[in-house]
This record gives sequence, structure tokens and C-alpha cells, in this order.
Amino acid sequence: MTGKKVLILGGGFGGLAAAQQLRRILPSEHRIVVVEKKSFFYLNAFNMQLITGEMKDSREGQRDLADLARKDIDWVHAEVQSIDPAGKTVRTSSGTLGGDYMIVALGAEKTPETMPGFAESACNLYDASGAIRIREALKEFESGRIVILCCATPFSCPGAPYEAAFLVDSALRATKKREKVEIALYTPEPRPLPATGTAMGEAVLGMLKERSIEFHGQHKARRIDGAGRKIIFESGEASFDFLVGVPPHTAPRVAREAGLTDESGWIPVDLQTLETKFAGVFAIGDITLIRQPNPTGLLLPKAWVFADEEARVVARNIAAEILAGQGRSKFEGVGSCYLEMGDDMAAYGSGNFYSYPAPRVYLEPPSKRFHTERRELERERLEALV
Ligand SMILES: Cc1cc2nc3c(=O)[nH]c(=O)nc-3n(C[C@H](O)[C@H](O)[C@H](O)COP(=O)(O)OP(=O)(O)OC[C@H]3O[C@@H](n4cnc5c(N)ncnc54)[C@H](O)[C@@H]3O)c2cc1C
Repeated sequence: MTGKKVLILGGGFGGLAAAQQLRRILPSEHRIVVVEKKSFFYLNAFNMQLITGEMKDSREGQRDLADLARKDIDWVHAEVQSIDPAGKTVRTSSGTLGGDYMIVALGAEKTPETMPGFAESACNLYDASGAIRIREALKEFESGRIVILCCATPFSCPGAPYEAAFLVDSALRATKKREKVEIALYTPEPRPLPATGTAMGEAVLGMLKERSIEFHGQHKARRIDGAGRKIIFESGEASFDFLVGVPPHTAPRVAREAGLTDESGWIPVDLQTLETKFAGVFAIGDITLIRQPNPTGLLLPKAWVFADEEARVVARNIAAEILAGQGRSKFEGVGSCYLEMGDDMAAYGSGNFYSYPAPRVYLEPPSKRFHTERRELERERLEALV
């Protein structure tokens, strides 16, 4: 048998999970090649620990991709410049590469520049340096109005802005400044975590209310007026003294130009196999568009828990085909996540997003145990991925 090559575009969460899984199953004559423009992997969820100060420096949460060589995974340090999905080849900043299979795991690009005023006025929650700026700003902030703004949907980790609101609340209570500060969250979503159905959203609304955090759903921002310290929405305005922002997201240009995306701007895939419309080309993680197979038409959230499981399914199926083995895997839309609440507590949501007639996802109340479990999971994933 001659060796096959699996080309993985993107060495973020999904790409690395697929590479590790493939390497565990496939003998070494088969090559696994990850093309990634960054030289390190950083687990985004650590931004919450940067805000609380549990993590001082983002370098504590990153791993050097050169270490992939130890696991017999080839890393090409290059930018993908164009993709030919029919030919399973890519042009990169260091030459052309091809494979027998291709996994597109290029994630969701954050585009703060597309929201006028964002760069000048908001601390970017989705950037490690932004998270550190939030931590530092909270030390100085004495009184006024802190706003958390989700610019557009969809965005990665639908729980993250809510976590930020809870952490800000907790930090201000710890320093006895909470009474002098208003906290408000504005989002285009109708309610928190809409993709989970109603139960989890209602539970989060209750937690926001208990902590006197305002929730303003169905607010789509048009621009931020930094000088006037206000956000201009399609309808109405809101003032702020300190602004935490979740920037707009888009699928990377190379995926759009390759004809992989549809009118949604994201890559549609088979709900169970994650194959794109091109045979042997799969897409996983934040770059995909997965509509839940129930009448709600809701989308699957963009979260690592799904990227991880999708990677596992795709890797197993590719390996089964290469090794002419039995047992194809199916992605079943099941997932869970922790919601950081501050005070070393986390809530835990889990359920099935493919269930009929609506997703069935529930939130378990905050506890220290969930917080500890989350910390363990983050560490375990970081060590396992590189
Ligand atoms: C602040 C924050 C907190 C989060 N917390 C959680 C959490 O607690 N739980 C959870 O489940 N999810 C969480 N998420 C979401 C999670 O990080 C993503 O869902 C996950 O990273 C998606 O994996 P991915 O492989 O699709 O994309 P990514 O991990 O973003 O990887 C994409 C990779 O592709 C690379 N790339 C892009 N374009 C090119 C190119 N042209 N050439 C070469 N390389 C390229 C990028 O550099 C990147 O490394 C969080 C996200 C954020 C931002």
C-alpha cells in the first residue's frame, strides 16, 4: 500500500485535533500535513483567565507548533493563499501543496476593522491583548457604565460575552465598586445563546438579572462613536464609559474565493460526515455552517467542543477509507460547555443540538466543581493538541 497524504488547512483547535486523531490511527507511511500561518497555538478560552488574572501572560497558554514534529505531524509554516478544492491542492506562501484528502479548518476570521470605531474605542474580548487590557482597566475603573457589545452574529463561543459580563461583575464586587457601576450587554441575538433553544437562554437571563446586569437583545450596531462614547444601533443609541467588544466574524477570504462557501458566507457540510460539496474535502469547526436538522433552523454554535468532535469523526472516516477498514463515524450534534461566572464558579450546559423538534440543551447551576473541571479540560486540551 502506498502512503496517502491528508492536508489540513489551519492549525487551530479543529485542525490540530484532526491531525492528532489521524496520527493515532494511521501508520507513519501516511503523512499528515498541517498548514498554519501562526507559529504557535493559543487556547482562546484562556482569555477569561487573563481577565481574572489567573493567567498573567498569554504565553502561558500557548504551545509552539514546531513541537508537532515530535508527534510525527508535518507542519508547514505558511499562509494559504488559494485553494483548489476539486484538485485538493493549495497555493501557499511557501509553495504549492496537494493531498489525497483535505480538511479545511481555517476558523472564523475576526474583523474589528469592519465595525467603524471598534479599534479606537473597544477592548477586543477575542484577542489576548484585549483581555489583558480589560483586566488592567477594571483595576482603575471606579464608576460609570461598562458595556459588552456583540457586533454581529454568528460569533465564536456564544457564551463568551456573557462570561465576560459575569467576570466584570465579580471583579467589581471583589473590589467593592459594583454599586457605582452599571453593566450592560448589547447583542443582535434575541436572547442569550439562542442556538441552544429556550431553556439555557432563560437560565442565563435569570443569572444576568440576579446580578443586575442589563440585557439588550436585538441590537445591531452600526458604528461606535468613540469621542461621544456611544454605540449607534440600527435603532437607537447606548452610552458607555468602558467598552468590551466582540468583533464581527467572517470565513477567511481564501475559502470564499475557492467556492467552498454558500450565500451564508460559511461552508455548508454534510451534517454527519462534514464533507463539503467536493468529494474528499471536509470542513470542520468555526468555518462551517451547520443548520440544526429540526424545524427551528437554528445554527450549531461555533465552539471548540464541536470542532473537536467533528475532527474526530472526519479523522476516523478518512482513516477507515485509507485502511479499508470498517465502521464509519457520524457527527451527532451533541456538545457541552462551561460558563464562567466569576468567584471560581462555572455553570455547565450540555445537550443535543440535532434533537427533534428543537435542540435539547440544559444548564446546570454554577458550582466550584464545574469551574475546576473546566480548568482541567483546558489544560488537558492544550497539552493534547500540540
Ligand atoms: C475568547 C474565546 C473564548 C472561547 N472559549 C471557548 C470555550 O470555552 N469553549 C468552546 O467550546 N469554545 C470556545 N471558544 C471557541 C473556540 O475557540 C473555537 O470554536 C475553535 O477555536 C474553533 O476551531 P477552528 O479550528 O475552527 O478555528 P481556529 O481555532 O480559529 O483555527 C483556525 C486556524 O486557521 C489559521 N488560518 C486562518 N487562515 C489561514 C490561512 N489563510 N493560512 C494559514 N492558516 C490560516 C488561523 O491562524 C488559526 O490558527 C472560544 C473562542 C474565543 C475567541
